[in-house]
Amino acid sequence: MKYVVALDVGGTTMKGGLVTGSGEVTAFDAAPTGRADEAVALVRSYAGELVTAGMAAFGQPPAAVGLAVPGIVTADTAVYSANIGWRDVPVSAFVPEGLPAMLGHDVRTGGLAESVLGAGRDEGDFLFLPIGTGIAGAIVLAGEPYGGSGGWGGEIGHAPVWPDGEKCACGQIGCLETYASAASIARRHAARTGGRLTAKEVVERIGHDPDARAVFDDAVEALAISLAGYTMLLDPAVIVIGGGLGEAGPALLDPLRERLAARLAWRSPPPIRQAALGVQAGMLGAALLAWRAAG
Ligand SMILES: [Zn+2]
Repeated sequence: MKYVVALDVGGTTMKGGLVTGSGEVTAFDAAPTGRADEAVALVRSYAGELVTAGMAAFGQPPAAVGLAVPGIVTADTAVYSANIGWRDVPVSAFVPEGLPAMLGHDVRTGGLAESVLGAGRDEGDFLFLPIGTGIAGAIVLAGEPYGGSGGWGGEIGHAPVWPDGEKCACGQIGCLETYASAASIARRHAARTGGRLTAKEVVERIGHDPDARAVFDDAVEALAISLAGYTMLLDPAVIVIGGGLGEAGPALLDPLRERLAARLAWRSPPPIRQAALGVQAGMLGAALLAWRAAG
């Protein structure tokens, strides 16, 4: 049976699996990503382990390897990642010799998976917005993620929402991510209370904790402002919310739908849906890249 090796390489850990032509996934334990040159070697050895496991399971090498990686990425080069610290790494450095392989940007690769297999399946044009430690988006146009002229497209988390807002870690003022990422929700609640709750715990407390309510309301308002801008600019068929905070489901999506509708006076808001593939989006997208590399 034909299969591919798929890797979702995050800033601290990577997850990999074997994916068959009919979409069956055998996921493997996550492994640490490491930093810089060491990270390249660790990805390569992890990919090698997956190929060996594939040989044992299917009696043949994989058709190809697909890798979702953070930072600035082209199909054949990991150009730069601030988190991992690598520069200009060719795709061949990540995989055992002789195997066809393709790279993709982590969030756009997740967007590709949602486009082909998930919540954007019946939509050509949509925004995939995973909300996790940070916020980045995948602009999907006619079914394909759009990376912009230099690979920076989709960085909606660093589009300002409040001109006199708080300073973002990126150096700008009032970025969406400063208010609405899971890390920011936890940080802003801690700044008001001295507590140490996760974003999930903050969301669970909005019914009875005024500080949680205030922080959550700021996050929803920031998202609504941002999504109103995106809606006016690109007229998406749907907005797909993913990531750890997306798992909050209606607790986040219902107020967000309401606030987005309130920000738009003369057009209807696009529907907002929860992502369908959860944490597997990156790996499934990497598998789709691998099938492309295999032709
Ligand atoms: Zn920023």
